[in-house]
Amino acid sequence: STFEQLNLKSEILKGIYSMNFRKPSKVQEKTLPLLMMNPPRNLIGQSQSGTGKTAAFTLNILSRLELDTPQQAATPQAIVLAPTRELARQIKGVIMVMGSFLPNLNVELAVPVDTASRGRKMEGSVVVGTPGTVMDLLRRRLLDSRGVKILVLDEADNMLDQGGLTDQSIRVKGMLTRKDLQVVLFSATFPEAVVQFASRFAPNANEITL
Ligand code: AMP
Repeated sequence: STFEQLNLKSEILKGIYSMNFRKPSKVQEKTLPLLMMNPPRNLIGQSQSGTGKTAAFTLNILSRLELDTPQQAATPQAIVLAPTRELARQIKGVIMVMGSFLPNLNVELAVPVDTASRGRKMEGSVVVGTPGTVMDLLRRRLLDSRGVKILVLDEADNMLDQGGLTDQSIRVKGMLTRKDLQVVLFSATFPEAVVQFASRFAPNANEITL
């Protein structure tokens, strides 16, 4: 299959080709048609890193963002949760490159309130961060939850090993109020504890394995 078959905006196709991707990887081929369905459906995906899952959830996010005005683009519409700040930083980089032809797009790394941000509001169309930091920003209303329509959680199995991250992720989800919220979860492995968490975090999801 091809990226053209996915009905992506031309600006998004340009972003894909600027990364020299020629055709969708297997995980992209399997998840993108499900992720991009309307009305949106939750998705649970099994996929190792290195398979192209970052681009899969990124393309869905970019397709759904409303960026017509700078003001719209400064409203958080998608949140991506990752187990470490370093992974969050990498994901932010991928979203920025794939979205570099979309006018107004703004991607922001969630930083702890007590360090760099000092009460400044998040203005990313997409906010990427660890669960605890994102939870804290939502609680302090430094991240406006009202426009958030996509919540992605990457590497669920790595979150489970580290006490607290899954609880914080559930709290983040609990603060998102949109009826049409789409929840997307990826994990390389699905031991019983991840299965339990995934079905709570992303209920009634389409499921794909590679
Ligand atoms: P990930 O699984 O998200 O960690 O991505 C693994 C690597 O595959 C990254 O270096 C991507 O740039 C690359 N990649 C993702 N999708 C494609 C694609 N469709 N064609 C070629 N390379 C890709």
